[in-house]
Amino acid sequence: MSSNNSNLNITTDSKILKSSTIPTLISGPCSAESEEQMLQTARGLINDHRVHIFRAGIWKPRTRPGLFEGVGRVGLEWLRTVKQETGLPTAVEVANAQHVEEALEYGVDILWVGARTTVNPFSVQEVADALQGVDIPVLVKNPVNPDIQLWLGALERLNRAGITDLGLIHRGFSTPNNKPYRNHPKWETIQQIRSLAPGIPLFCDPSHIAGRRDLLETVSQQALHLGVDGLMIESHINPDVALSDASQQVTPEGLTKLLNALDLDHEHVASPEQLQDLRSLIDRLDHDLINLLFLRSDVSKRIGEYKRANALDIFQAGRWKELVEDRVRLANEVGVDEGFIRAILDAIHQHSIGVQNEVINAAATSPKKEAIK
Ligand code: PEP
Ligand code: MN
Repeated sequence: MSSNNSNLNITTDSKILKSSTIPTLISGPCSAESEEQMLQTARGLINDHRVHIFRAGIWKPRTRPGLFEGVGRVGLEWLRTVKQETGLPTAVEVANAQHVEEALEYGVDILWVGARTTVNPFSVQEVADALQGVDIPVLVKNPVNPDIQLWLGALERLNRAGITDLGLIHRGFSTPNNKPYRNHPKWETIQQIRSLAPGIPLFCDPSHIAGRRDLLETVSQQALHLGVDGLMIESHINPDVALSDASQQVTPEGLTKLLNALDLDHEHVASPEQLQDLRSLIDRLDHDLINLLFLRSDVSKRIGEYKRANALDIFQAGRWKELVEDRVRLANEVGVDEGFIRAILDAIHQHSIGVQNEVINAAATSPKKEAIK
């Protein structure tokens, strides 16, 4: 697709950037800090199937020196572990050729150019040159200053290096008065960049616009009303002790609450291609469900063995009552119909009792150890 106003010639046929649901959600910590922090955050995030991509800053471009500047290469190892464990594609910020080389070496799936890099054509060109001949999606954040041409120029440089899977991230601008935001959204720029780079997926990064957790909902909703294709929201297992951007990060549970509060489908009806994506998502979720049911039934079996060894009844009414109350509470919290969840729990419970009966009956009918001797 090309536009009259730029030299872009971009296909947006990216498997990763094209969302499996609308909008595409990228989440993860501002900075990689430790393997535990990364894994715990990612494990929390995959509880919410609306998260598609895991982000983490490995090299942090700080406005002032002496602040936490990122863990570097070791963070890429943690990121690889996150991907292996959760299956989430990963994304990192790159600002020079060395970052690109290391990120590619560790199999990072998506790269993004940060706001402090987009401002500098030399840096963008260095990143573009390092990407020559590489097939990888690249997202470009708007420059810190409200200069749309600079933003577009970065897209063009990457595109001329052969990158066609491009996306934009609107993260707000530094203006003389950003209040109450950290970076002013200047919402009109969304329309401007769209008309200059039509067809390029556009994400919003409410975290860097808001700068504070309590503004995330309003900013995210506004971006969705403007029809953005995705959101990048920073999350951290323990935001209060985060080494960067502590006040704007949310816990994985906080992210779920935020997403629940948003009208995510605003003015979107799935297209035929998106229907295909939605079906693939259903397939993945069903596979997850079956794997989880297998694990659960295996745990039931072990509980059955314990009950047999300790001569306990299979059905423990008190435990079952508590379990149902807990699951119904969670269902109500996340918006799953209560009757539906009760019916599923009943089926699971019946099966679990069946599994435990089998364990006990098998023990009763199997030859005694003495007899084998
Ligand atoms: C970030 O995503 O953590 C970051 C540094 O963002 P930005 O480039 O938008 O300031
Ligand atoms: Mn950040």
